[in-house]
Amino acid sequence: MLDFDNSYAQLSDSFFERVEPTPVSTPTLIKLNKKLSLQLGLDHEDLSHNKAGEIFSGNGILQGSEPLAMVYAGHQFAGWRPQLGDGRAILLGEVIDVFGERQDIQLKGSGRTRFSRTGDGRAALGPVLREYVISEAMAAMNIPTTRALAVVLTGEEVYRKTPLPGAILTRVSKSHIRVGTFQYFASQGDYSSLKTLADYVINRHYPDLKETTNPYLGLLEKVVSTQASLISKWMGLGFIHGVMNTDNVLISGQTLDFGPCAFMDHYDPTTVFSSIDVIGRYRYENQPYIGQCNCTYFASSILSLISTNEEKAKECATAVLNTYQDQYRKAWSIELNEKIGLSEVRLGDEQLGQDLLDIMAHHQLDFTHTFRKLSKLSSLRSAQDDPILHDWLMKWRFRLQTQQRSSKARQTAMKAKNPAYIPRNHQIENMISSALEGDFEPFDSLNAVLEKPFEEREEYLGFFQPPANRDEGYRTFC
Ligand code: AMP
Ligand code: MG
Ligand code: MG
Repeated sequence: MLDFDNSYAQLSDSFFERVEPTPVSTPTLIKLNKKLSLQLGLDHEDLSHNKAGEIFSGNGILQGSEPLAMVYAGHQFAGWRPQLGDGRAILLGEVIDVFGERQDIQLKGSGRTRFSRTGDGRAALGPVLREYVISEAMAAMNIPTTRALAVVLTGEEVYRKTPLPGAILTRVSKSHIRVGTFQYFASQGDYSSLKTLADYVINRHYPDLKETTNPYLGLLEKVVSTQASLISKWMGLGFIHGVMNTDNVLISGQTLDFGPCAFMDHYDPTTVFSSIDVIGRYRYENQPYIGQCNCTYFASSILSLISTNEEKAKECATAVLNTYQDQYRKAWSIELNEKIGLSEVRLGDEQLGQDLLDIMAHHQLDFTHTFRKLSKLSSLRSAQDDPILHDWLMKWRFRLQTQQRSSKARQTAMKAKNPAYIPRNHQIENMISSALEGDFEPFDSLNAVLEKPFEEREEYLGFFQPPANRDEGYRTFC
């Protein structure tokens, strides 16, 4: 069915608890991601609807699967949690996909583990559908992210203030190793496991480092550059992760945890949606800085690997960490330039981009729409130009004239960069309300639209619109 080739399960018992998913009463398959399943080499031949329900609920354990819950620690809202771990997720195993890439197959909501603490080990339907839609939309918008393979209703209720239908998400990721996984072993003073973990990660994700003089310092460089790049891409979409704790930062550089995340509608850099983020620690404009903090936490956890001489280790790590800001700034300049159709960054471009953002903030313009509209404007002055942007458009066009790109090529590039459709909060909420009443049609159509976020289609006009009430007071929950 799935051709498992497990490597994490071969590590010692200090890395995980071997635990099987807790069976559920009546699994019903709601969604199987066909494209992704083909990528993973899932054998469809004798995969009936019922059988898929059995597999992706964890009721039927697949041959070759070695289920386990991973241990990790983490800084949550800057507070240290010495032991977290998969409290409601179980790694079934790994497969090598058709691109030769190793992928984790994990069930989320599959029952209690040693790390569940007071939690029930389960997930409710709403957040599962939310993660499915948003993570798949992120992938379609070319953002490194974990993927969603399947959704199964368990037939059991979970209690989240009120009883809700339970569901299980099958999550796929290049790995689920987090900054918090390193922090766990570092804080335990378990140097041997820490080294095993680092070597494992280098082997799995960054094998080129093996030949370098200090692979562990190289690993820090990779984490710094992937975080700077990833966060610049979030910023370019108006994406607010919402819970950038170190247990949610993947060493592979993918986006993880779609609990409280949300996209901004109108541009306001102070936007925060998460109900538990009372001081706005993870607000939109703070994300680049938090990325740097998380890299610093990672550096601290591997200092003993970088050098046995602590002073020297700190010096080397600091030098790498000091490149974060510059790397982020460069990545963001490129991101913003691409969004406004400029193929290379020149002096003055950062200001041009910032001027646009300032106007957007002042007039509370819709983030996605503004860039999408620009993508359609000609490089010549037009009578239909937006009066609010008029002066800025003059400067922009002046700059466009200085590049070689034709107007048509510029528009094509911009339309491939600036999505027409994003998972808008009101649409996600409507989709969940319908699903709770047993109607999964909005879930399917939202997925269909977001599968091709850069392709505007007449029949999807309704999905293009921002909410009438501008998301006033919109709150998300973990
Ligand atoms: P998060 O805030 O989603 O990053 O989760 C933080 C930690 O809480 C993780 O270790 C989760 O496994 C755990 N957790 C979240 N929800 C539950 C639940 N319903 N049951 C058990 N553990 C949970
Ligand atoms: Mg998490
Ligand atoms: Mg979460």
